[in-house]
Amino acid sequence: MLNNFVWKNKTHFIRKSVLMNPLKQGGLDFLDFTTLNNTFKINWLKNFLNNPSSLWNIIPNYIFSKVGGLNFLLLCNYNITKIPVKLSNFHKQMLLAWSLIYKHNFSPHRYYLWNNKDILYKNKSLFFDNWFKNNLLLVGQLFNSQGRLYNYSDFLQKYKIPITTSEYAIVFNAIPSGVSFLLQGSTFPWPCTHSLNLADTMIGNVCFSVEQHKNNSKIRALFQRELMTIPYIIPYWNNIVENLPWEKVWSLSHKYLLTNKVKEITFKLIHKCYPTKAFLKKYKSDIEVNCSFCHSAEEDFIHLFWQCTHTEKFWSDVLLFIQSYFISDFSFCFKDVFFGLFDYSKENIGKYYIINLCFLLAKFHIHKQKFTGSKPLFSLFRDDLDRYIETIQCSINPKAMKTVSLYSSFLSS
Ligand SMILES: [Zn+2]
Repeated sequence: MLNNFVWKNKTHFIRKSVLMNPLKQGGLDFLDFTTLNNTFKINWLKNFLNNPSSLWNIIPNYIFSKVGGLNFLLLCNYNITKIPVKLSNFHKQMLLAWSLIYKHNFSPHRYYLWNNKDILYKNKSLFFDNWFKNNLLLVGQLFNSQGRLYNYSDFLQKYKIPITTSEYAIVFNAIPSGVSFLLQGSTFPWPCTHSLNLADTMIGNVCFSVEQHKNNSKIRALFQRELMTIPYIIPYWNNIVENLPWEKVWSLSHKYLLTNKVKEITFKLIHKCYPTKAFLKKYKSDIEVNCSFCHSAEEDFIHLFWQCTHTEKFWSDVLLFIQSYFISDFSFCFKDVFFGLFDYSKENIGKYYIINLCFLLAKFHIHKQKFTGSKPLFSLFRDDLDRYIETIQCSINPKAMKTVSLYSSFLSS
């Protein structure tokens, strides 16, 4: 529904995984429901772990105590269908959410014997409380210094824990040969000293630390990075235009107090989904493609916004305007209009701030004229520009105040 709303119930021209990017990376910070839902599950975990003795946690505490407690389970390489406990759907979803962001890159010193999806008995992962309570946690602890699995008597001698032969057999037979191979040669200090504290892991620190209050967006970002794709038009433009400062390009329109309508034009142009006739023809073959202004050439975005005789005239008037009020030897090309100007000396920052604004509004003017069936006209644009400044004049928004003061200082001088 959210995605349909973004596209006004019409065709989706940009993939959701691209819109999920932050603004400065070419997305719209689009909120995806799945990641939002997963974020809530992580917050449930956070509440649980930070208030272990709360009345609300009695039942989950009891359930997860059968597999070493929730804190320990989260460190394990679990598979929810293999955990030897009947879990509610909510708890399953919560564990699934965590497993999406907490990755188990194989490391012998973090490879736990318990709740391990690779180490199964009767198709369930293992958990033996007396082994666990005696600090037998890692698969590596089952191996002697020659890298072989302990036999029963050596094992008892080493750890001095009363373990039955049947438990020994279950555990040792469950170790896959591939795992034995991987662990050969690693040594494990005994007793093992490494931390079982979730907050010491990178992901745990982001999700559970008590100091982080409003960190939903950080948690969401962990989920998003699995799903996001960088805008596919970036490599496309990089082939055509050299050295585009992408972060600045994407952020440019957000430096002003502009309506989304204005920002949308540039956003769609760079994403190559501005609805010119040539573009729409891809979706609807019976469309005529003659330029809305000159009616003599095909209307693609370069023609409409730059090459058409009507827009060409319009831009040359814009150039005269910039030359007379801002920089007398100014010139610009299509790339500058399209992406923005970012290469200028420090003393000209204010001027370029307004020039970039003019480009954004000028592109909007061209768009507006196309859809109202008229032609771009500088005098109308000038009125629009003045009216825009008038509109934001009373705003106390810092971007608006900056724009108004710069604009009036240049135009009065
Ligand atoms: Zn034309």
